[in-house]
Amino acid sequence: MTIAKTNLFSLSLDAGAFCYCREGLDPIAFSLPALEVDGQEIAFRADRAGGLEERHLKSGATEYTLRAYDGRGYHLTFVFRTFEGNPIIKYSFSLRSEAEARLTKAHGERVVYLATEGGTDMTEVRFADYDRFIHSFVPSEEAVDRRIYNESNGFMGPMVLDKNGTRTLLLAYEHGSQNPDKYLAFYPSGTSLSVRAVKGNYYAGRRIDRMPFDSIVFHIGVFPPEEDPAAAYRAFQLKYATNNLASREPYIFYNTWCMQERDRWYNGHRYLDAMNEERILREIDTAHRMGVDVFVIDTGWYALTGDWKVNREKFPNGFDRINARLREFGMQLGLWFNPRAVALESEIMEGYEDCIMEVDGQPGIPQKVWETPESHNMCLVSRYWEQFANRLTELVEELGVTYFKWDAIDQYGCDSDHHLHGGPENSREERADCYAFSLGLYMAKIIDHLCEACPNAIVDFDITEPGRYTGLGFLSSGKYFLINNGPYYPCYDVEEHLSVRGWNNIFVNPGPARTWVCRTPLSYDRWIPSVLFLTHYLPDGNRNSQIINLASLILGQNGIWANLDEVSEEGVQMFGEQLALYKQVKHDITEAYPITLGQPGHGFEVHEKISARGRGAVCFFTDGGEYQYATRGRPTGEIRILGEAAAERIEDGSLLIRARGNAIVWCL
Ligand SMILES: [Zn+2]
Repeated sequence: MTIAKTNLFSLSLDAGAFCYCREGLDPIAFSLPALEVDGQEIAFRADRAGGLEERHLKSGATEYTLRAYDGRGYHLTFVFRTFEGNPIIKYSFSLRSEAEARLTKAHGERVVYLATEGGTDMTEVRFADYDRFIHSFVPSEEAVDRRIYNESNGFMGPMVLDKNGTRTLLLAYEHGSQNPDKYLAFYPSGTSLSVRAVKGNYYAGRRIDRMPFDSIVFHIGVFPPEEDPAAAYRAFQLKYATNNLASREPYIFYNTWCMQERDRWYNGHRYLDAMNEERILREIDTAHRMGVDVFVIDTGWYALTGDWKVNREKFPNGFDRINARLREFGMQLGLWFNPRAVALESEIMEGYEDCIMEVDGQPGIPQKVWETPESHNMCLVSRYWEQFANRLTELVEELGVTYFKWDAIDQYGCDSDHHLHGGPENSREERADCYAFSLGLYMAKIIDHLCEACPNAIVDFDITEPGRYTGLGFLSSGKYFLINNGPYYPCYDVEEHLSVRGWNNIFVNPGPARTWVCRTPLSYDRWIPSVLFLTHYLPDGNRNSQIINLASLILGQNGIWANLDEVSEEGVQMFGEQLALYKQVKHDITEAYPITLGQPGHGFEVHEKISARGRGAVCFFTDGGEYQYATRGRPTGEIRILGEAAAERIEDGSLLIRARGNAIVWCL
């Protein structure tokens, strides 16, 4: 039966397998799932299929829900999302048993999510390698060596490109963890390729008659051999991968954290001294003049974690005047949260003591959270998730917040036997794996709950340290906060006491060096738009530093932080003028597939972001001398230049640019 049809492909259920057929290419069949139930591996069948439902989502996607019945007493629900003009589909399933039944591990953890023909010439695409040199996650692509990876040893992905000369198959899954900590993997065997669970995907004894087993989400696409799947995948990530569309908006963000750090390390104050109305209003005024859209107040605005109410000692008027000022300027309010933290003295703690994270049956030791009272860490894979989701939703009304910065969520650390990741009959290791596997899924549930009530809400998740839930999973709900200040002194084997003022981060100053670190992960932009990797650049320092920082941030990371009192009047004006130009072409820059030459720190580095409409920008980072660059894009409108460059249109409609320094060439 036909399930879905777009202008590029059709999807059907034929002979017990799904069949993806893109015009002009051989059809690809992929299997229904197989799981171990009550000690037996069961490859599920669709003995009867029907009840196909179709729903149109605001992202422009069409969602198809297909209900099938396996004659042995199992109900399967398959969900597909398709997009006109894009070959990628999203796929997931849900399994329920009519009679009492349990998922078991008699033969190890056993979920075959899908299997297909493949494994000929594979490239693994990873999104969660941790680069110690810049202290950030980075993407990487590597040919799969069949001498290493086979039926029993899978590679992590979360994406594989499989070529067989007639087509390229793209398979990916939505989850996250730092390479090589595998929760799922791709297993090549002979001429087949399967995606299977590795650990933590369920706990033994889980009843599937009481609560269905919901799979994670998979991405599947087929391409002609000459087509690079990256551009289509990037468009899918930008436009269709989530229904929480505000997360993709190229706003300009300001965050108070850098000001708070400078207060601490340069001025000898405390991190939270800047948390007062007068200072925040002054920052808002300057941020507005510089072109900031979203003003994020970092840690310290609240009285107690968990309750998440404004600290009335620091802000006697609450956020009334702050919100009035933001509204006057058309700006949005963002706030910092540690989603796990709940203060011992909070009102919430009393009803949720059973949700405190535990290791070996013991709760952790309460810690002060950034100069605020002691807090416990709560397990988000417990019923606490819903309390936190409801509280965030209330705060949209209560405080006018639309941007939620989530910090300090490590992927590991709970093996409790009375949360939602295993019980007393499971081993501690199994419960810990299930916690680590499930954490990101519960984070997504919280965000989706919030965005259902408040569609313009955005959640960013701080992955500035290793060991966090990084991959494709979180991006279907929110965006990442990628880099704080890069590496610390000890990361470079430099003794910490050599830091002049005690600040243990190296890259906290204006100038080109911080931008080398921050621009390096722009390599994500080939697959995942850089607008999903918020990183803050510095607007102070001299004019050359300001140009470098502006030229960097408009490539998509879009963040600014500093003590804005210290930015010169000329600097404030320059940011205001340049970001006004940015706003004319921000959607073009966000959509444009990146073209880059050179690398951060090299003598010559170019980033071209010109859309098919011929609009966008080209940014140059050079160390002197004259370099020439001819654009691939063909700009048609006005050209404006910041910095040392000159541009002329040449015969084929492109621009020939001569750069003698750092520069932005705007194509308006
Ligand atoms: Zn737990």
